[in-house]
Amino acid sequence: MAPTSLEEALALRAERGDEATVLAGGTFLGILMNQGFLAPTAFLWLGSVSELREMSVVDGELRLGAMVTHRRVEREAAPGWPVLARAFGLVASPRVRNVATVGGVLADADYASDPPAMLAALGARAVLRSPRGDRSVTVGELILGYYETCIEADELLVEVRVPAQPERATYRKFRSRSSEDRPCAAVAAVNGQDGLRVVVGAVAETPQDFPDLCEGEPAEIGARYAERIEPLSDARGSGHYRRRVIAAEVRRAVEAVL
Ligand SMILES: Cc1cc2nc3c(=O)[nH]c(=O)nc-3n(C[C@H](O)[C@H](O)[C@H](O)COP(=O)(O)OP(=O)(O)OC[C@H]3O[C@@H](n4cnc5c(N)ncnc54)[C@H](O)[C@@H]3O)c2cc1C
Repeated sequence: MAPTSLEEALALRAERGDEATVLAGGTFLGILMNQGFLAPTAFLWLGSVSELREMSVVDGELRLGAMVTHRRVEREAAPGWPVLARAFGLVASPRVRNVATVGGVLADADYASDPPAMLAALGARAVLRSPRGDRSVTVGELILGYYETCIEADELLVEVRVPAQPERATYRKFRSRSSEDRPCAAVAAVNGQDGLRVVVGAVAETPQDFPDLCEGEPAEIGARYAERIEPLSDARGSGHYRRRVIAAEVRRAVEAVL
């Protein structure tokens, strides 16, 4: 199914629910299908819905339609949101960034993605829409666990809203294998009016965000994050290794924004 308006897409989503797999850029779904983990019988493709490709600034807030590609965020968000442009620009290769979407990277809830930690640190909210209405959720509320979100079977993620970026903000991606790889650990840090916020991605099933640990010297904050997080082990590093990376990378990120 290839709806050409958002209204039509929402109606099809409500009618078919999870029986029709929502397809955005296909970079995540393609891998799962090639590996035999998924065998969808129907797709609801959002590529012809122009409303979902809109990108604008409204009252100082960046609004990214769900079908805006990583490449566009990398290129067009830089004037006001350079740190977001950087986080999206560090994903994979241009070939992937040309098709991977803002909605797809949040809805796939892959623990090893770059953008979710940065979006969480900036206080972004995702708008979920269904015939029942809209709801706006934080990244922490959206991503519930490994590949699991709070998106209901009749809902589409339609937009992501990002508040103004404070001047002091950074994104650090630590890769342990190739330069195009996903992160072994990623740290997004923002120091704005509400104080310091540090979110660590790719080390546990959801982005790790602990406002209560953000007082003190950079090295102390790094040590506390390393102690609080229960890091996972995967091909990019063991939990033990990740703990050491977290301490160093959080310290460096906090030094950069203080
Ligand atoms: C070679 C390669 C390297 C990669 N390296 C990195 C990396 O370094 N860093 C990184 O962060 N990521 C990386 N990725 C992951 C990539 O960023 C994601 O696959 C991509 O963001 C997913 O977006 P998509 O539009 O392709 O989603 P799709 O594959 O189309 O969909 C992903 C999931 O989201 C659902 N979905 C999509 N849009 C919506 C919507 N609007 N509403 C509700 N549900 C929706 C789909 O049903 C599906 O479950 C890599 C991927 C590849 C293939």
